[in-house]
Amino acid sequence: MMRCPICRKSSHTRTSRYLTSNTKEAYYQCQNIKCSSTFKTLESIAKVLSRPEIIKG
Ligand SMILES: [Zn+2]
Repeated sequence: MMRCPICRKSSHTRTSRYLTSNTKEAYYQCQNIKCSSTFKTLESIAKVLSRPEIIKG
């Protein structure tokens, strides 16, 4: 969930898709009826902090 950038209320994910295995694009709609703004976000993995032993190179 991402807060609305206009009114700071909560918003709903309308749809989302992966652009790459590490990056997701999501479309949101504000839940505040008086605002109802729509916006999109890009969410990406900032850093992998640990990974299973079996996959370590
Ligand atoms: Zn809003």
